[in-house]
Amino acid sequence: MERLQKVMAHCGVASRRNSEKMITEGRVKVNGQLVTELGVKVSASDAIEVDGVPIYQEEPVYFLFYKPKGVISAVSDDRERSVVTDYFPSVHERIFPVGRLDFDTSGILLMTNDGEFSNLLTHPSHEVPKIYIAKVKGNPLKEDLKALETGVEIDGRKTAPAVAKLKSSDIQKKTAIVELTIHEGRNHQVKKMFEAIGFPVLKLKREQIGHLTLTGLNPGEYRELSKKEVSQLT
Ligand code: URA
Repeated sequence: MERLQKVMAHCGVASRRNSEKMITEGRVKVNGQLVTELGVKVSASDAIEVDGVPIYQEEPVYFLFYKPKGVISAVSDDRERSVVTDYFPSVHERIFPVGRLDFDTSGILLMTNDGEFSNLLTHPSHEVPKIYIAKVKGNPLKEDLKALETGVEIDGRKTAPAVAKLKSSDIQKKTAIVELTIHEGRNHQVKKMFEAIGFPVLKLKREQIGHLTLTGLNPGEYRELSKKEVSQLT
C-alpha cells in the first residue's frame, strides 16, 4: 500500500505536492468514492480517477537507452518520424523519456513510466552531472573553454559552473573534440553554450549521467537500471 498522492505522482498525474492539492480540491476518487483527506493509502488493485478520468497503475520501470541520432525524444510524432519508444517493442508499460536529447544528438537517455522520478531528475535544482562529448567547428583554446566553466549567458541567464576539457584539436580540419560536464539541463544547453563562445557544435553525444555510462550498449539498445542505480540518481 502506498499513499494516494505518491501513486498519482508515479503515474505522472502531477508532482506529489500538486497531487495532494488535487485530492483536497475534491478531484480524486478511489473505487468510485471521493477522497478529500490526505493520508489514504491505495494498492495496485484500487481504481483511481482524477477529474473523472481513470489513471493506470503500473509497476515503475527504469531503462538506460542508447539513443541513436535521427530519433525524436518523444513517445509519438505527428510526422511519423522515428521516436525513442519504437526501440522498446517488448516493453508494455507506458514509458517516456526523462528530459530530452535533440534529434541529432546521440547518447544516454533514461526512460521510465515513473512521473515522479522524471520530475525529480529534470528539476533545475537536481544536480546530477551530465557529461557530453562535442565535436565543434574551430580550434578553441583553453581560455575559450574557461568561459564555459565560469558561465556564459544563454537565453538571458548565465549558466552554472561547468567543467570543459579539450580532448583533441585538428588544426587542418579546423575541428576539436571537447568534453563538457554540466549540472543543469536547459533547452539545447550544450549547443547554445558552444555557440556563445563562437565554436558551433557539429556533433553531440551524451556519454554519462551521474555514474551511468553507455558501456556494453550499441546505439538503439537499452538495459534495465538496477534498484541501486535508480536510488543513486534520486
Ligand atoms: N544540449 C544540447 O544542446 N542538445 C542536447 O541534445 C542535449 C544537451
